[in-house]
Amino acid sequence: MALIVQKYGGTSVGTPERIRNCARRILETQRAGNQVVAVVSAMSGVTDNLIKLAKEVSPEREPVEREMDVLLATGEQTTIALTAMAINALGGKAVSLTGAQAGISTDRVHTKARIVNITPDAVHKMLDDGNIVMLAGFQGETASGEITTLGRGGSDLTAIAMAAAIKADLCQIYTDVDGVYTCDPRVVPQATKIQEISYDEMLEMASSGSKVMQSRSVEFAKKFGVVFEVRSSMNNNPGTIVKEETPGMESVVVRGVSLERNQAKVTIDDVPDRPGVSASVFGALAQANIIIDMIVQNVSTDGLTDISFTLGGADVAKAEAALAPVIAGFGGKAALRTQSGIAKLSVVGIGMRSHSAVASRMFRALADASINIQMISTSEIKVAVIVDEAEIERSARAVHTAFGLDAASA
Ligand code: ASP
Ligand code: MG
Repeated sequence: MALIVQKYGGTSVGTPERIRNCARRILETQRAGNQVVAVVSAMSGVTDNLIKLAKEVSPEREPVEREMDVLLATGEQTTIALTAMAINALGGKAVSLTGAQAGISTDRVHTKARIVNITPDAVHKMLDDGNIVMLAGFQGETASGEITTLGRGGSDLTAIAMAAAIKADLCQIYTDVDGVYTCDPRVVPQATKIQEISYDEMLEMASSGSKVMQSRSVEFAKKFGVVFEVRSSMNNNPGTIVKEETPGMESVVVRGVSLERNQAKVTIDDVPDRPGVSASVFGALAQANIIIDMIVQNVSTDGLTDISFTLGGADVAKAEAALAPVIAGFGGKAALRTQSGIAKLSVVGIGMRSHSAVASRMFRALADASINIQMISTSEIKVAVIVDEAEIERSARAVHTAFGLDAASA
């Protein structure tokens, strides 16, 4: 008998029919002789709708975060009850538990709380009584009994953390895709499903735009060594196993190619080249809660230099406003330019640590496709470039082919 944690995302429980489908799968898993804890998200769209409602009743100010958590936690509470009912209707025995009832304790940071401890006594007891445990994702409670939520996408974290706490034999993340692909199949039809990927590669792919799971949950899995599988709730295809890297994994130079659209570039020309300039530019951006990706500072001539950085396209106006006083303070010719309509292409793989010439191979592939590279950044396991958004799909296909990732038959 194995102890299995399954997680079903919002699309997988998006309609009554889909909830019944998940209920059947969960029941089959139990009937195959296993104990099952199934974590569910809110039905798709529900969390977004609740946020919208909150804004409608509180147009004058941001809703109080404590109340946001009381509200948002209802999405998952609805799905656990509905799925438990469906399982019971199919002849099974299920009990639903909220995060608090399942012993998930968090800190007090409402809307993005961190799990501090899990006391799974109630979970074990219900499993031992022959129940399927339907566990609400995305939520916990503080030491003083306040409801908290774990940040958007937090049901993934609930599943991984509960799997660690009860030492589950298997953790399966069911979603609406078949697993993690070498690239988005809508862009690169020859993309193939990755059988095994390391935590670090999965994290880099997510930060480069291929978001299959909440990054915090992957970090948590890495920290506690929770091996998990990402697979589809709509079929029985094997998915992608995410785990600690093994020596064999390094033989693949590039595990995947990911793209992130709708990026923008900001350049500040003619800033004085002296201590404190970058600190004040990026300090102002941080103050405005703007997330910056690549940063390039030029070699200076005549005491002046240029700084360019990229950010999400939606944040450009906010960045301009935040930087206006800083640039005015520089005096002289310092001025700001922005460019939207760019995108980022990344190649990711732990094999890069032991293989040379990855960057040059990528640049050659782009050159052969006559694609201009506007910015470059690298990490130990990633090379990323900025290109014109209109060329991102062509870029992805060229690079995917260059690293030998295309499916053999396609
Ligand atoms: N329902 C929450 C959200 O939409 C948590 C989750 O789906 O994982 O972010
Ligand atoms: Mg999700």
